[in-house]
Parts: sequence; structure tokens; C-alpha cells
Amino acid sequence: LEGAYDPENIFAKILKGEMPCVKVYEDEHVISFMDIFPQAPGHTLVVPREPVRNALEMTDGALQATIVRVKRIANAVKSALEPDGIVITQFNGAPAGQTIFHVHFHIIPRMDGVALGA
Ligand code: 5GP
Repeated sequence: LEGAYDPENIFAKILKGEMPCVKVYEDEHVISFMDIFPQAPGHTLVVPREPVRNALEMTDGALQATIVRVKRIANAVKSALEPDGIVITQFNGAPAGQTIFHVHFHIIPRMDGVALGA
């Protein structure tokens, strides 16, 4: 979990408008766009503007603003795709599965109609 924030990470470049994305939503707190390697159709990312590596480093205010937007965007995904379930997750640190070191949340619709692990 230790390490310096790299201001040239991919999501920082997307936030700065230096890299393209398929944008879903944007305001003063977050940007949301489609994941380029979706785990399922409709896989959406929510990226806080706060420049920190992971959720544990976020200020309470930025985290509160972000999680409310994650909920709203997940509801928009629910309305658009009518999935059977929605995974909301995020990873902190490479051993936890994080690959891009700007904090972000995953919204992953599940269309399978069966329980995971069933
Ligand atoms: P992590 O494992 O760090 O939580 O997830 C990073 C996510 O970013 C992955 O799901 C990966 O597919 C996605 N990703 C990686 N590079 C890009 C990119 O350039 N554009 C977009 N939209 N998503 C990316």
C-alpha cells in the first residue's frame, strides 16, 4: 500500500483529458467511464478526482461524495441493462489485485441469472 502517487498514471491522464475514454458521467468529484477490458458487458469505473493511490488514502469528504456517485451510477446501469446483480468493488494495493494506482471503483453488472459460485 505504500508508495508515491504517480501523476502520470492512466486514470490521471484520463482525468486531465490527455487520454480518451468512453465517458458515462462527470462532475466536480468524479469521472466515470467504461472499463476498456470489461469483466462483463457494462463494466463501468468511477474515478474520484482526488489524486491518491487507494481508497484508504482518501479524505472522508471525497470518499463520501464518491460512494454516493457509485450508487447513482450503479442505479443508472441497473436501469439501462437490467442485470440480475451488480458487483461494486475496488482493490487497494497490487497484492489485492490493483493494477492502476489512482483510486477507483468497479461497477460490474452480472447477467448470468445464477449465483456466483453455484
Ligand atoms: P484495478 O485492477 O486496478 O482495480 O482495475 C483497473 C481497471 O482499469 C481494469 O479493469 C482495466 O481493465 C481498466 N483499464 C486499464 N487501462 C485502461 C484504459 O486505458 N482505459 C480504461 N477505460 N480502462 C482501463
